[in-house]
Amino acid sequence: MHFRSLALIYILYILVSILSNTLSNRESRGMTFEFLDVGQGDSILITTTAGKFILIDGGGDYTADRLLFERQRLLSGCHLDVVILTHEHADHSVGLERILKRCTAGTYKKLYKGDLLRIDGLELHVLWPPEKSYTPSDINDTSTVILADYGFFEVLLTGDAGSTVLSSLDKGKLDNLIQNGLDILKVSHHGSKTGLDKSFLRKYTPRYAVIQVGEGNKFGLPDEEVLDFLGGIGSEIYRTDMQGTVEIKAF
Ligand SMILES: [Zn+2]
Repeated sequence: MHFRSLALIYILYILVSILSNTLSNRESRGMTFEFLDVGQGDSILITTTAGKFILIDGGGDYTADRLLFERQRLLSGCHLDVVILTHEHADHSVGLERILKRCTAGTYKKLYKGDLLRIDGLELHVLWPPEKSYTPSDINDTSTVILADYGFFEVLLTGDAGSTVLSSLDKGKLDNLIQNGLDILKVSHHGSKTGLDKSFLRKYTPRYAVIQVGEGNKFGLPDEEVLDFLGGIGSEIYRTDMQGTVEIKAF
């Protein structure tokens, strides 16, 4: 959790740039979060300070595989240290299945509330789902929800979880982990109002909100109500349908 010295200089900068820039000529230092532009779907790649890869979801087609392939031409083989599928919907799983035909994975299993992964100073606290026997009527509510904590930098990854899931998260734990509001929120469910929990967002006021959504989403996502609310609480919004891959690096 808060294992780094207070004296350590903390800098966050955000780059929204085209893919060719984000996936090449990379510096190995820093903890990098990339919200990949995979069209409609989620795919998030975390590269640790030591160059390990954590992939959360793979989008709905071959785009994420192509992006990884382009990068890993420079490396030998394709190995992902941790792979997480948030839930079994095609816009998260199909691309991941494709990637796992080509790449090996270290840890790849369903995670549950209370699980904790530590990698190169990054902690992944699993907040949801509560247990294996939890089978809600809406598969979106089985989404793995993770608080990624790197020193004073906190990112909440929500999959497609609905607002009832967000309101059920362990607030005591979140209060302990989150310093001065969330740095990044991966907005739930491609910006659908089904994942909008206003009191949760007012409490943790994300500085940046990233929406992974395809251009011309057939459900009209992201919902205006979500955009208005996030804007109203002062979150800066980035969208993969408009800006492409969003890269955020924490030092
Ligand atoms: Zn989805």
